Amino acid sequence: MKHKKVAKKQWGDGTIAIHMGEDHHRGDAPVGVSIARTANFVFGDTERMKLRAEGKLSAYIYTRYGNPTLALAEKKIAALEGAEEAIVTASGSAAISSALLSLLRAGDELISTQQIYGGSYRLMRDTLPRLGITVRFVESDLGGIERLVTPRTKALYVETPTNPTLRLVDLERAAEFAKEWGLVSLIDNTFASPILQKPIEFGFDMVLHSASKYLSGHSDVIAGAAAGSAALIRQVRETVIGLGGSMDPEAAFLLIRGMKTLRVRVEHQHRSALEVARYLSKHPKVARVHYPGLSSHPDHALAKRQMHGFGSMMAFELKGTPKAALAAARRFCDRVKVFLLAASLGGVESLVVLPIYTSHTGMSPAELKASGVEPGTVRVSIGLEDPEDLIEDLRQALA
Ligand SMILES: *Cc1c(COP(=O)(O)O)cnc(C)c1O
Repeated sequence: MKHKKVAKKQWGDGTIAIHMGEDHHRGDAPVGVSIARTANFVFGDTERMKLRAEGKLSAYIYTRYGNPTLALAEKKIAALEGAEEAIVTASGSAAISSALLSLLRAGDELISTQQIYGGSYRLMRDTLPRLGITVRFVESDLGGIERLVTPRTKALYVETPTNPTLRLVDLERAAEFAKEWGLVSLIDNTFASPILQKPIEFGFDMVLHSASKYLSGHSDVIAGAAAGSAALIRQVRETVIGLGGSMDPEAAFLLIRGMKTLRVRVEHQHRSALEVARYLSKHPKVARVHYPGLSSHPDHALAKRQMHGFGSMMAFELKGTPKAALAAARRFCDRVKVFLLAASLGGVESLVVLPIYTSHTGMSPAELKASGVEPGTVRVSIGLEDPEDLIEDLRQALA
């Protein structure tokens, strides 16, 4: 009973991403995607205006409330995640904050895994407590999670694989725990993408994405999404409209266009990443490689169980004392020629970055330890260049 099908899926992911929601068979239909580049929509007549106000007619009025180009992106993401509905947002952070704020109020409690995206962690550490919401953190292995639940706990938030050490949360166990205690379960599925991991099949209630990463895939747009039941997404939509995190139609076009190649990109990137991880793990100067596709990774067996591939994110440390490893990591990052030294991930370009100066900057030594980040940890995102060129670049930068 691993892959519980929630909705009958007719198409594979590649076909969904290309055709879902599009009216391609009408005469004169454009094959390409049109952008409804407009802030507002005409009512037509006062009768339609009145019916809309009374909630008897659903119609587009203003793009912050909804727009047909956004709706197309939403149909594709919902279908890819096996969800009833989805909403696209101005960023992944807008999706995450609006989703949590749609569920939680002052006095409520949230349980979150400790190893999460830096921005999400700061939301939970600084912003939610200011609003009277208590956040309790649990390790990715969910050890001792039973002791964190109180009558005020409303939701469970996880991220898997984690940034940057690629630890995994057991999806089936997390979703079952949430069901048992009546919590809404949310997952940030950015690192895996719906091609490699479909949390709703494991019983998760809501899936969140930074669509700035794999979904759009070309490092040219900031975007986010949430997918789940119609009832939950209606709540998130109200919050997004109210707080103003709606997506722009131009961004929706880039997201839709990027998603058309999502499946081939993710599958190709995953194959290259496995080659790169194997190369790094045999390199004499490399102390450790964090990649769930390697049998040495502590969550390798779990990755094989719950993912359809290991993805194209990894991290590694060079040998030496923490100080020497950081100096070596900086030398490596300053020498790469094909890899770019840049934040973000999931695009066609391969990237390297030092988490202590980016995602994990400003964290205390205890927080760094809890998130598994060492001073010399190098995070790698594998893009779509030829893997031989990537490996040659690593060879020269490590020499
Ligand atoms: C980038 C990222 C986010 C934040 O998304 P934005 O689109 O930058 O707001 C959230 N979670 C993960 C895992 C990310 O990588």
